[in-house]
Amino acid sequence: MMVNVSGLRDFEFCPRAVYLKEFLKLTPELSPQQARGLVGHAIRKELSLRQSKLLKKIKHEDQLGLLLQSEFDCILDDLPYIYKEKLAGIELGKILGEIEEEINSEIGLISSKLAVLVKEQGLQQALKAVTPWKTEYPIRSEALNLTGIVDKIMQPLSPVEIKTGKVGESVWEGDRMQLCAYGMLLEEKFQQEILQGFVEYTRVQEQRQVLLTERLRRRVLDTRDKVTEILSGNLPEICPHGNGKKCDACSFKKECYTI
Ligand code: SF4
Repeated sequence: MMVNVSGLRDFEFCPRAVYLKEFLKLTPELSPQQARGLVGHAIRKELSLRQSKLLKKIKHEDQLGLLLQSEFDCILDDLPYIYKEKLAGIELGKILGEIEEEINSEIGLISSKLAVLVKEQGLQQALKAVTPWKTEYPIRSEALNLTGIVDKIMQPLSPVEIKTGKVGESVWEGDRMQLCAYGMLLEEKFQQEILQGFVEYTRVQEQRQVLLTERLRRRVLDTRDKVTEILSGNLPEICPHGNGKKCDACSFKKECYTI
């Protein structure tokens, strides 16, 4: 049974949530906060993926702010089509009104960081630095029994995972495992050693390095095996992490506590 790489991160959050989502195929009703999170994720991800396209259009860094703003308008038009399934049933207009202010301030941050990059490195080098070799690259391996979609692949070969949520002090373990799994998949596919990847935090426009250490690789394989057991129907105990706050924030709570 093929394990999706995102399942490794879900397992790190809660093994029981993997069972409810992947084995029982439950789709809980979204809370307003979760709906905001999904819409915000889609917008931020698009803003990240489109940065190289914008840089290609400018002659001077002063043009970035306006171009980003107009790209934001294009993203709003595109959202209902490109994220049709993920955003199904969400009242987009209302949520956009609620998150517009914070997205606008992030656009300001993207604009000023890109402008600094262009000033320091010149347009051509800046373009090279932000242009991915591939985006949303689907990959799978029978040998690793893993499948997934890599957000960005940069050259020299390294995976980048875009994270649009709140930023912690360091990279969460679930995100590190996800990134490492993508690195292992790319290594196998392109027969090239990969030593590192990056988690991109869109809210602060920062990329953090993750080293693909032996310990982390073992953790990926170990977690993959545990997820495989869950996908075979092995129900984890309730609140296996012992963290009630996680349960309070979990969209499966209602169903989970009655099983
Ligand atoms: S409610 Fe708690 S135990 Fe149940 S899936 Fe969510 S986090 Fe896990």
